[in-house]
Amino acid sequence: MRLVFLGPPGAGKGTQAVMLSERRGILHLSTGDILRENVKRRTEIGKKAKSFMEKGELVPDDMVIEMMIETIKTGNKDKGFILDGFPRTLYQAKKIDGELEGLNLPIDTVFYFKTSIDIVIFRLTGRRLCKDCGANYHIKNMPPKKEDVCDKCGGELYQRKDDSEETIKKRLEVYNSQTEELIGYYRGKGILKELSGDLDADVVYEEIFGILKKDL
Ligand code: AMP
Repeated sequence: MRLVFLGPPGAGKGTQAVMLSERRGILHLSTGDILRENVKRRTEIGKKAKSFMEKGELVPDDMVIEMMIETIKTGNKDKGFILDGFPRTLYQAKKIDGELEGLNLPIDTVFYFKTSIDIVIFRLTGRRLCKDCGANYHIKNMPPKKEDVCDKCGGELYQRKDDSEETIKKRLEVYNSQTEELIGYYRGKGILKELSGDLDADVVYEEIFGILKKDL
């Protein structure tokens, strides 16, 4: 099962990918997480990507494509994989489709998380993450038991720099101008399934599960 999760930032793609990956053992590949890890470790990729990410702009296509192809090739894909936040431009989509077809691993389903702008802003401005294990919280919807402390590992919670209101605006502009056209691209291929990203995570999961269950 090879999936793409497509939608604006804050649509819940990452949350669903974590749920599906933990419950079904499907490899979860989040471009944003992989890039943030590179920034943290100060790798060459991280050094080049940092300023684009802080401004809410896309990291250059060829760099991201190469990084993702390498990650897909080396990962344990026995149960398939979820591409979360990738591709994000038509160029990335065409390039990765060509590569995956060459590897005999074409994408089977693209889930498009259609989400209202107010919900996206509410989720992103209140989002907090654990510095150590990466667990996700929301100050209103899903607060930790103890303020700023991760329930799972006791790590410190932080707010992503690009979750500031100004950078969120930029990220949404980038989504509208560069990523949204992928909806039409995948619809044209007949593999797009639309979901409401506005709904609670458990409801969205049930919907995804219902669509995939014959293959899980
Ligand atoms: P995310 O965690 O998906 O919100 O991604 C955080 C940031 O990483 C984005 O704002 C971009 O700067 C960068 N990024 C993530 N995925 C991609 C991609 N497919 N192409 C280019 N840049 C990306």
